[in-house]
Amino acid sequence: MENIFENTEVAFAIKKDSELERAYFLFKMIQKEPLVRIGTAITNFALKAHMPVEHLIRATVFDHFCGGVTEEDCMDTIEKMYSKNVHSILDYSVEGKETEEQFDLALEKTLKILDFVKEKDSIPFAVFKPTGFGRFEVYRKITENEELLNDEQEEWNRIEARYEAVAKKAFDNDVPLLIDAEESWMQTAADDLIERLMEKYNKEKAIVFGTLQMYRWDRLEYLIHLHERATDKGYHVGMKLVRGAYMEKERERAEEKGYKSPICTTKQRTDDNYDAAVIYMMEHKNMAVYAGTHNEDSSKNLMELAKKHDVAKDDPRMWFGQLYGMSDHITFNLANAGYNVSKYLPFGPVRDVMPYLIRRAEENTSVAGQTSRELKLLKTERKRRKLTK
Ligand SMILES: Cc1cc2nc3c(=O)[nH]c(=O)nc-3n(C[C@H](O)[C@H](O)[C@H](O)COP(=O)(O)OP(=O)(O)OC[C@H]3O[C@@H](n4cnc5c(N)ncnc54)[C@H](O)[C@@H]3O)c2cc1C
Repeated sequence: MENIFENTEVAFAIKKDSELERAYFLFKMIQKEPLVRIGTAITNFALKAHMPVEHLIRATVFDHFCGGVTEEDCMDTIEKMYSKNVHSILDYSVEGKETEEQFDLALEKTLKILDFVKEKDSIPFAVFKPTGFGRFEVYRKITENEELLNDEQEEWNRIEARYEAVAKKAFDNDVPLLIDAEESWMQTAADDLIERLMEKYNKEKAIVFGTLQMYRWDRLEYLIHLHERATDKGYHVGMKLVRGAYMEKERERAEEKGYKSPICTTKQRTDDNYDAAVIYMMEHKNMAVYAGTHNEDSSKNLMELAKKHDVAKDDPRMWFGQLYGMSDHITFNLANAGYNVSKYLPFGPVRDVMPYLIRRAEENTSVAGQTSRELKLLKTERKRRKLTK
């Protein structure tokens, strides 16, 4: 069978030659693990010392992986992608903030985005991250069944109120809402809250979507039980399925604290777990799946399942998703074939999105095969363009 992801002309259709060159240079750099380690350390130091490195970061990694500093900056990219049937999800990627003011600011941003995207077909979802709305430690205590102090109980009440405010706005504006997943030792608190919101707002269709990290061996069972509860109570399950971005941290903590690692023992087991969750979700009409993956096989599996279950390519219960700056060959070729597909488009002040950018750089060094695949495709496209000039 023809591999639809090999078409580089479609994959890079909106990239100018200079952007293609920058992408090639960037992936060449981040492929080298020591370079990423040293580069990260220098960048963190330079930012802390208020050295003028923001311009350099902008011209390289930032512009490759982010849409801009504000949501307005992103509009150009959003429109360009939408001209090829690729949707965008505005992702306010400021991380590591721990004050109530910052949480309220993130809430305001998300509410504003929900209004901003209401009439925009190019932006089909809104998104937020649990720790964008509240302190990690409060989530952790609830997840690990520790008692909250008085102040912490009030903090938690405010977190619940923030979730409720965005879910209600998402429902009123008819814009589905994705909620990211983070470390396992804080995630149960978020999952329980998200389940309550699904029960309240997903009666007709999936508006609130949680996220399952399928590198966790317990997630398939969780999904099946959640689905049973949803079916009993009469609501839809919305779920983003990802493999998970915190593997090393998870394993280290489990070893340090002496509990069984929540992560599958091998990559193959994670892959099987991911596939099983996709199969399960596609078998049930009261489930909506957002497959957040850069894995070609996972994407092909979902395409085949859609065919098998007679689910239209643009059925709102099935979405594919990649991160901006990665796997254009999957995104643009899926869009070209008529599937629902979107890119997370991060934005925010340069220094505040650094943790996100560092995760992307690290992911591209450690994920076997991924960067060499990007490089190979970029090389093919450069060659193709030279030949057609
Ligand atoms: C749209 C989108 C949204 C995302 N949202 C989130 C989110 O909310 N939370 C989150 O944590 N991540 C999120 N991610 C990142 C995601 O979890 C993965 O880190 C990333 O996409 C790489 O996985 P992959 O499916 O693309 O496939 P691949 O490149 O095939 O797989 C790599 C992944 O497999 C797993 N893995 C690798 N080696 C092993 C091993 N030895 N044993 C067990 N497992 C292994 C790890 O999870 C690793 O990241 C998101 C990704 C996308 C595209």
